[in-house]
Amino acid sequence: MLGANCRVHSLICFAVPELKVLIPRQQIAERVAAMGAEITRDFSGQSVILVGVLKGAAIFLSDLARHVELDSTFDFIGVSSYGVRPSPAQELKSGWDSTGEVQVTKDVDQSMKGKNVILVEDILDTGLTLTFLKKLFAAHQPKAFRIAALLDKPSRRKLAISADYVGFSIPDEFVVGYGLDYAERYRNLPDICIVPRES
Ligand code: 5GP
Repeated sequence: MLGANCRVHSLICFAVPELKVLIPRQQIAERVAAMGAEITRDFSGQSVILVGVLKGAAIFLSDLARHVELDSTFDFIGVSSYGVRPSPAQELKSGWDSTGEVQVTKDVDQSMKGKNVILVEDILDTGLTLTFLKKLFAAHQPKAFRIAALLDKPSRRKLAISADYVGFSIPDEFVVGYGLDYAERYRNLPDICIVPRES
């Protein structure tokens, strides 16, 4: 079944006509607002730094930030995994199981020492990326460190890590939209959609 967004993005859906909406935009908006309210309550009276993990968390961060009613600043970090990245088709079929070695491609612009850091990530999958980032940020000696992940795929976890704020727990499906890509495309879809593995 085609989502409403697929009619708008007709060119994109020409490439993958079977995109199925998993989480519609209204549901995302409601959940992101609730997450922002939770962070606002937890850090009441304090300042926070929202650190987005590029590029997938960019849209999530921009929506979440507007529901965090605190003195806030933004920063961004870029990461990539070492090893031979599978082709997009292979990644879709069996996921992206990196070797566990993650590389920083763009570091944060400021020290996080003594600050309340909220790391904003699109999806928690095997846990390799966030385990790496958690250690990296611990070295900064922040006052508090929390993870906000829009999506969580608990069945794919390889390392025991969880997020403090989770938008949606989802099954082991490859998803795109709302910042998430497939070979750099579909990030601008307003809904979170499943790309069927047989595509
Ligand atoms: P982890 O290190 O937890 O295995 O992977 C996290 C990263 O894998 C995410 O930031 C995201 O870039 C990518 N990823 C994992 N699952 C998906 C998915 O279903 N769709 C997309 N587009 N990326 C995913």
